[in-house]
Amino acid sequence: MRVWSRFEWQQQSRLLDERERLQRQRAELRTAATSRRGYEPHDVTDDEATIQADAIEGRLAAVNKTLERIDAGNHGRCVACGSQITEEWLEALPAAPLCRSCVV
Ligand SMILES: [Zn+2]
Repeated sequence: MRVWSRFEWQQQSRLLDERERLQRQRAELRTAATSRRGYEPHDVTDDEATIQADAIEGRLAAVNKTLERIDAGNHGRCVACGSQITEEWLEALPAAPLCRSCVV
């Protein structure tokens, strides 16, 4: 079995925290949407809530993918060019799938 580096453990715990936070936000949004629907059926902010919920879904998916990559031992490898993403970059964006040069 592969031994994880300290950095991988750190990143995993940050990502798990992030996932928990996002799941909580998603649950809050759903509760808010449900209660609004009950009292004010034509509330215009429903669209905003949908956009927000989509953004949360997107980030959750990115976090889950990154956790899978850590499991597979591919964490920190740019999905576009295959080069190693610097630890500084990953510290800033733990779920970054791309290296700095592929982002721009
Ligand atoms: Zn790259």
